[in-house]
Amino acid sequence: MDCLIIGSGPAGYTAAIYAARANLSPVLIDGPQVGGQLMITTEVENFPGYPDGVAPFQMMDDLRRQAERFGTQFVEGVVTKVDFSTTPKKVWLEDGKEMDAETVIIATGASAKFLGIPSEEEYKGRGVSACATCDGFFYRNKTVAVVGGGDTACEEASYLAGLCKKVYMIVRKPYLRASEIMQQRVLTNPKIEVLFEHNTLCLTGEPKVKGADLIYKKGTPEEEIRHIEIDGFFLAIGHKPNTDLFADYLDRDDEGYIKVQGDSPRTNIAGVFAAGDCADPHYRQAVVAAASGCKAAIEADRYLKAR
Ligand code: NDP
Repeated sequence: MDCLIIGSGPAGYTAAIYAARANLSPVLIDGPQVGGQLMITTEVENFPGYPDGVAPFQMMDDLRRQAERFGTQFVEGVVTKVDFSTTPKKVWLEDGKEMDAETVIIATGASAKFLGIPSEEEYKGRGVSACATCDGFFYRNKTVAVVGGGDTACEEASYLAGLCKKVYMIVRKPYLRASEIMQQRVLTNPKIEVLFEHNTLCLTGEPKVKGADLIYKKGTPEEEIRHIEIDGFFLAIGHKPNTDLFADYLDRDDEGYIKVQGDSPRTNIAGVFAAGDCADPHYRQAVVAAASGCKAAIEADRYLKAR
């Protein structure tokens, strides 16, 4: 086949729309979460073209149908192995099925890191979020907590402080890891209270989050359980790009993001392109992912024509 796309988020679907319209007859492998990361948010209000917002499943279904309309074929499954050393490139699914492709567009996204406590799973969609830009609006004039002490956490806390009544930052160390300017921004914001040396034990409330039990200075004589009342719990402890599968072939940065050449989606292997969050440590927005999917499909078409 001419073009194989791995991943069904905004990058993958947009790549499919463009590749299909360029007559590349793309095949798109859905991956473990059909629709990608957006599917864990409540509503999408910042994707251009939806003045009244849109439910994530609706938007992703629209994108999928648009890709299908021009002839994209969808394959349910998860890629477990690749070999990019050959032409065509080889990709294997979990059931052992092998697929060969002249070009591969990787759009496997990134996954927000979670703490790993049972409450996160229990309250998913009921007060737990890993994206303040996506879900912050639902907590206007309410009290929320942001976990993490890095630049993302500070950015999310500052953003939420513009909407919410109060924002707690739950930071496990006695200091913030964020850049100086971001630290100053949160430490001088009267709406933000930083709880240093706190870890989250569990969330409470029924049916939605209403509070969190925290442990202060765990393992020291001053250890103490503290409770805060909150309506929303935001994780900002980092993202992990879903790229381990490609480690043997593609250049990646220290955090695992696929390295692309300049502004293009070209990787170090000709005919393999990376689009969306798997290659974007900076923006992590659906509209940016979609745009990079478009670029990847155009590059795939150019690569095939040049050969
Ligand atoms: P970071 O890895 O920088 O920070 C993660 C934060 O989460 C740290 O405070 C870390 O604590 C904390 N954390 C991690 N795991 C846990 C856990 N299990 N429990 C509690 N806390 C935890 O990730 P970011 O996403 O903030 O940033 C990633 C990169 O992107 C950084 O290089 C950052 O500078 C950059 N960035 C830049 C921005 C900008 O310039 N505007 C905006 C956003 C990100 P600890 O310190 O104890 O490890």
